[in-house]
Amino acid sequence: MQEPVIVVHGGAGVWRTERKNLGLRGVKEATKTGFEILKSNDSAINAVEAAVAQMEDNEVFNAGLGSALTIDKRIEMEASIMDGKTLDAGATGLLSDIKNPVCLARIVMENTDHVFVVADGAEKLADLFGLERRNPLTELRTRYWRDLKERLMRKKLDYLPKLYKLVSSHSQLFEPSTVGAVALDKDGNVAAATSTGGFSLKFPGRIGDSPLIGCGTYADNEAGACSTTGIGEIAIKLVLAKNTCDSMCSGKSAQEAAESSIRLVNRRMHSGSMGLIAVDMLGRIGAAHNSPNLCWAYMTMKTHQPKAGLKAKIVKEAA
Ligand code: ASP
Repeated sequence: MQEPVIVVHGGAGVWRTERKNLGLRGVKEATKTGFEILKSNDSAINAVEAAVAQMEDNEVFNAGLGSALTIDKRIEMEASIMDGKTLDAGATGLLSDIKNPVCLARIVMENTDHVFVVADGAEKLADLFGLERRNPLTELRTRYWRDLKERLMRKKLDYLPKLYKLVSSHSQLFEPSTVGAVALDKDGNVAAATSTGGFSLKFPGRIGDSPLIGCGTYADNEAGACSTTGIGEIAIKLVLAKNTCDSMCSGKSAQEAAESSIRLVNRRMHSGSMGLIAVDMLGRIGAAHNSPNLCWAYMTMKTHQPKAGLKAKIVKEAA
């Protein structure tokens, strides 16, 4: 029997002092919740869903409650989940008030013939399955939105490509904090899930990496599992979660694969804040980033308690 492992993240970017401790506590609690599930012989898919749903309920993270706002001050949440045993996957996006987007992603995976259902259709599906709704808008995110918008205006940046240019060279201005989890269960199955409010000040209708299978989330029993965070456009262009799984499939450990993916980001995208977590089929964990912070935690049978940090392996080199 395999020893279970879970790794979660609460987002890359910059973690301001006012949120640091809450973030660390949040990832620890989510890790514990997921690990309890794994310890009771339950599946990796249940563990990652529960861990991510718990972080969606914690307003310190940019997912579910406390999601970031679009440039026109709306909320458009997105999430995905994947089962490495079957390669079944579900994703959803453009959600304004579903309480737990990751649970809707699982409903898409298990109850439709599709992988990705967004907007009105997704909300209809949520109603069919009786999912709860709530207003995800918080004071903290409204304040961040106002501050960020003012800074952008002062720099006379008023359209998105310039915003991304700014993000690439001044990642400290932005505080993405998507959540994600990867797990390996006692039966040797892996799973991954990711959820986000998306990038602050994103253009309405913009879909990031988090709900895109292969970009923000990937799990395959022939490789391992990965969840990414950071500037979604980069993870999309590099199909980063799948890239990390491919590296594990070809024999790299989760940590080697995570670092090699961040090196790829540095090499091909030159800059841009990214982070990711991974687990391989031997239960080894990986976490790497080029952003100033990655809020993350993990738990194994040996650690007894969740281990959390605001930094993992920072990779600055490109090769
Ligand atoms: N990757 C997310 C996005 O681009 C943001 C984040 O990770 O915080 O939507």
